[in-house]
Amino acid sequence: MTITVAIIGRPNVGKSTLFNRLVGRKIALVDDRPGVTRDRREGEARLHGLTFTIVDTAGLEEAEVDSLQARMRQQTEQAIADADLILFMIDARVGITPADEHFAAMVRTSGKPVALLANKCEGRAAEAGLLEAYSLGFGEPIPLSAEHGIGMPDLSDVISEVI
Ligand code: GDP
Ligand code: MG
Repeated sequence: MTITVAIIGRPNVGKSTLFNRLVGRKIALVDDRPGVTRDRREGEARLHGLTFTIVDTAGLEEAEVDSLQARMRQQTEQAIADADLILFMIDARVGITPADEHFAAMVRTSGKPVALLANKCEGRAAEAGLLEAYSLGFGEPIPLSAEHGIGMPDLSDVISEVI
């Protein structure tokens, strides 16, 4: 039995980049264009001796709902329902947007354990966004750089609390 961890957040925050880092392969498509991850992707993650199932999601905005995008939103809701732990990711260089609030509300109603990841924290540009992240009510944000591999020990700490 392995626990299932879902990465949830609006498009472009770096979910697929983290997913690929955790599975050690480029399974998920990383792209600057929002909504590129069309399918839910699942893989076996390894991090500092922990093994768990990791799920990547599309993370579409509410305003974009048409039939395809409604399906992708449903996919996010399903991923939340299936998860033992949710990694809620924001882009610390952008700060909190209405789309972040929207996804945060979905996570909140689920009542599932949540760790807040403030991604793109490799430079000074992330400082204000990191502070703003507290306003989501998910506790202290974990500063992360999925691209540069920063913050992985803190991430493994929160996952090991659930395992
Ligand atoms: P997703 O839509 O949430 O899955 O985001 P992606 O993983 O596709 O990443 C969106 C963009 O953010 C890509 O251009 C990534 O290279 C970039 N990105 C991801 N992680 C980081 C990071 O830690 N720092 C910076 N500066 N860019 C990142
Ligand atoms: Mg993606």
